[in-house]
Amino acid sequence: MPDAPTTLLILGASGDLTRRLLLPGLGTLLREEPGRRVRVLGADRVEVSDEEWRTKVRDSLAEADVPPDLAEDVVAHARYLQTDLLEKDQLQQLLAAAPDPLVLYFALPPSVTVKVCGLLEELRVREGTRLALEKPFGDSLETAQTLNRQLLRVVPEGDVYRIDHFLGVNTILNLIGLRFANRLLQPIWSAEHIEKVEIVYDESLALEGRAGYYDHAGALMDMLQSHLLEVLAFFAIEAPATMHAEEIRGLKAQALRAVHPWKHDPVAASRRARYTTGEIEGRTVPDYVAEDGVDPERETETLAQLTVQLDNLRWAGVPFVLRSGKAIGTQSKQVAVTFRQPAHVPLGLRDTPEPDRLVLQLKPGSISLDLSMNAEGDPFELEQKELHAELGKARMLPYGEVLGAILDGNPLLTIRGDEAEELWRIVEPVLDAWRAGDVPLEEYAAGSDGPQGWSLA
Ligand code: NDP
Repeated sequence: MPDAPTTLLILGASGDLTRRLLLPGLGTLLREEPGRRVRVLGADRVEVSDEEWRTKVRDSLAEADVPPDLAEDVVAHARYLQTDLLEKDQLQQLLAAAPDPLVLYFALPPSVTVKVCGLLEELRVREGTRLALEKPFGDSLETAQTLNRQLLRVVPEGDVYRIDHFLGVNTILNLIGLRFANRLLQPIWSAEHIEKVEIVYDESLALEGRAGYYDHAGALMDMLQSHLLEVLAFFAIEAPATMHAEEIRGLKAQALRAVHPWKHDPVAASRRARYTTGEIEGRTVPDYVAEDGVDPERETETLAQLTVQLDNLRWAGVPFVLRSGKAIGTQSKQVAVTFRQPAHVPLGLRDTPEPDRLVLQLKPGSISLDLSMNAEGDPFELEQKELHAELGKARMLPYGEVLGAILDGNPLLTIRGDEAEELWRIVEPVLDAWRAGDVPLEEYAAGSDGPQGWSLA
């Protein structure tokens, strides 16, 4: 008998995440791994017919070029169950209607997720049920700790999958392959050879109607607290022996435990700014505070920068600059490594070159290595040349990779409870300093590269 299909029960199936990211991700997963058997159940409080839900699933699979016979098989088993998830009886009926093995995917507003978990605690879920939880995971160290404790009363930690879709981004996973599979790079991945690391995610997109979420989060919580610190963790880990999930997650948690604001001074280590009106690619972007749903009193930043250090043997003294902004003129999504100057350059070679740099572009993926050499023209003069490689296209969307691992019961691409808490522990002093007004909220015109005078370390 073939294995029973895994049930992916999406709670919040009529929401934005399901439509824009989850179903398209699932489509690319099924296209690349057509042997998978998955039953897609949707639950939400709005009335939707089975047929409408099946059309939604069918369209997403077609969009991803899933072969029609496979798509129809998935569609035929897809069902929608109208449910008010905060009604205990309805939730119970929903769980009873969802066959094992079961993944409960919380595509719900965070406050609803917490309440549903509370009900699950009372109802008890069947052994082996997996819970997939979206970001944000709590909104402070304390709420993350409380949520972790609550989840453990529902299922064991091994069945909790905290999502950060950056963990499914092929160029970020490449940090492990690039570093550990290359004799050239592996020995120089330390403070002895690396002067600074910049992890930047500046996008030209502005608010795009997402004030309801973003104005409560801001760039620090939306990007640095989750995604960019996770990238840092991948960058900075000690050498794993295997790609076993617990080994990698343990090493990431170990790296994160060493992270603190630069010189342990959250005020000097951080900067924040908000965009004003400007032009991006020929279109006028309104002032952030003029956008529908924005409350200027919240002082939400649309650009955040935080320099951190790792208090451990490998990285002591190396600044890691994390930065992310919206409505930035020059998009930059990259990890840039600046190497230290060599201890000695032969006397007689002219022109001190720029330091060597390795730049990993995250989207689209590429790698550049800037090396100093005496190349063209005067053979006694140094100059920099770039070695460049384009990385192949990812086989599937990041949500496809993450979903695939969850359906396999492999937590490698999700965040462990202690990691989730460390991510808050790191940014909390910065959030406190910002709330106290200790770090001024600067301004920059949309389409510019941020406020004047910000340097990356
Ligand atoms: P939405 O508000 O678009 O969707 C949530 C859905 O849950 C809505 O359809 C909502 O119905 C439904 N819902 C709310 N309460 C109940 C209830 N009691 N019973 C049944 N259904 C209910 O949110 P998103 O899809 O944008 O976000 C979902 C999660 O994903 C959040 O945690 C978010 O932070 C995270 N996320 C979202 C991203 C995105 O791009 N959208 C990106 C990354 C993470 P109703 O409309 O009637 O309230």
